[in-house]
Amino acid sequence: MDLCNSNDIKALLGRHGFRFSKSMGQNFLIQGWVPQDIADASGADETCGALEIGPGIGPLTVQLARRAGRVAAIELDRDLLPILAETLSPFDNVTVIPGDAMKLDLAALAAEQFPGLTPVACANLPYNITTPVITALIEAGCFASITVMIQREVAKRICAGPGTSDYGAFSLFCQYYTTPEYLFEVPPECFLPAPKVTSAVIRMVPRAEPAQTLVEDAFFFRVVRASFAQRRKALLNGLSAAFGDKLGKDQLRQAIADAGLPEGVRGERLGIQEFALLARALRALGA
Ligand code: SAM
Repeated sequence: MDLCNSNDIKALLGRHGFRFSKSMGQNFLIQGWVPQDIADASGADETCGALEIGPGIGPLTVQLARRAGRVAAIELDRDLLPILAETLSPFDNVTVIPGDAMKLDLAALAAEQFPGLTPVACANLPYNITTPVITALIEAGCFASITVMIQREVAKRICAGPGTSDYGAFSLFCQYYTTPEYLFEVPPECFLPAPKVTSAVIRMVPRAEPAQTLVEDAFFFRVVRASFAQRRKALLNGLSAAFGDKLGKDQLRQAIADAGLPEGVRGERLGIQEFALLARALRALGA
């Protein structure tokens, strides 16, 4: 059976009486090159344990199973479990974990499933939970790489640099902990049913060294959130809303100047180092 042939898929799903669920972001791949290229991009080999979120009927799972030492695939839709039991039966290195990826401890699961292997994450993500899943994968802190297919728009945001319209707090979060790479795009015709938007595959590799060491992470991100909260306004407004209880406008202006930034600058123009300098300056003044 070809897991990316739409006639084979329809026959398989029909035999199991399966119905697509929009709320679970079910768009299954129907072009064989896509799961192959995603699995290749993940760099998974026999030294790796690959965690997949949302295997569907298993086209990417199969590609990962051929490359990785072990694969663990978390699937929320219980109606897919008997189908996966059938499609993955040739592979003895795959475990399907029924459940909600958003409710599982991904670091604990990787440690339990992949002893002696390097954990990597690889998935064609359900689009309704893209950002929380990516956040959870990064925060798990155990994956040597995270390779995911997501909406092109979100992929562009994750990879965007300061001063561009796609740049925002989520770009900074991802770039703070990893070095995201925009790999390739996948058109809607590659899915059943076809989504309305184009997709893109990105790979994020955690940074070997911290992105900055001037202030602790929690304070850094307080400053980032404050700066992006009023995106179209000058930085001073956002800082005033967040730190106004401790610092007056003059002190905030002073912090901006101490960080070497022009007074009217907008948060969306600042990179990680500039935010770090600003956070250090705010801290020094008592924020
Ligand atoms: N990997 C398959 C493919 O590429 O054809 C299916 C991808 S489909 C875009 C997303 C999959 O994620 C579906 O199988 C869906 O049931 C599953 N899913 C949705 N929400 C989930 C969650 N919270 N935890 C685990 N799986 C989920």
